[in-house]
Amino acid sequence: MDLYRIAPGTAPALVDRNPRDKTAYKDLKKATSGPTLAQKQKELAALQRLLWADGSRSLLVVLQAMDTGGKDGTIRKVFSGVNPQGVDVTGFGVPTEEELAHDYLWRVHRHTPAKGRIGVFNRSHYEDVLVVRVAEIAPEPVWRRRYDHIVAFEQMLADEGTAVVKIMLHISKDEQKERLEARLEDPSKSYKFNPGDLKSRAAWAEYMAAYEEAIERTTTDAAPWFVVPADRKWHRNLVVADILIDTLKAMDLSYPEAEFDVTDFAIPD
Ligand code: AMP
Ligand code: MG
Repeated sequence: MDLYRIAPGTAPALVDRNPRDKTAYKDLKKATSGPTLAQKQKELAALQRLLWADGSRSLLVVLQAMDTGGKDGTIRKVFSGVNPQGVDVTGFGVPTEEELAHDYLWRVHRHTPAKGRIGVFNRSHYEDVLVVRVAEIAPEPVWRRRYDHIVAFEQMLADEGTAVVKIMLHISKDEQKERLEARLEDPSKSYKFNPGDLKSRAAWAEYMAAYEEAIERTTTDAAPWFVVPADRKWHRNLVVADILIDTLKAMDLSYPEAEFDVTDFAIPD
């Protein structure tokens, strides 16, 4: 998945990345991708069992995207084979009064995954250098110094046993228009429409600039960023599954050995 990984010290060059790209699965189409995803869901489920059994490491998956970028759909699809008991999904919205009374990492640190578990962040501390920057919720010197805090925070998580992967689901402005229209037209989707989303849409270029700089400043070996093309949902799901599978495989997990000789036992009738 090096195709979509942003190397330390490099900018993602978002304007040059095609959100409709399907390079990782050129030979597939939506209609023929089902079995491939099913196979990856199984693989992910097996790796999650191993993570749990190993008990010494954890995985944190940070998902960021513009509205309608597919964070919810990715979580639903990619994790549908995994034991729900081993996964904690946390969404981060507009901070509450209590959250605002603390530093901006307080609310996220409380939800980082315990050993053996997978934690998924639907939005994250990156909002504190994205919306906070674009909507001018805090002045520039305040959000700008956060890049260094975030790098140090994520390095600490990695040092203590948490593998951290950060994924930007990269959709085009045209695709967002279609998805927002669908929310208005389909009664089963309209609950997701938020008039405030039009404000962020109007600031598209500012958001892309904020993502560009945040990703460049915070992509590290300990906590890499991936920019995943997300206009095609089926390709997005396969790529995200691959990133998680690769990450879990690289963690060198193992089933603990029994602390007794299993041949000493016979189960009575
Ligand atoms: P949703 O993901 O649709 O539930 O929307 C959550 C909203 O909360 C988005 O508009 C985010 O921009 C906003 N949000 C998340 N984190 C922050 C933050 N730290 N400061 C301000 N707004 C935030
Ligand atoms: Mg929303």
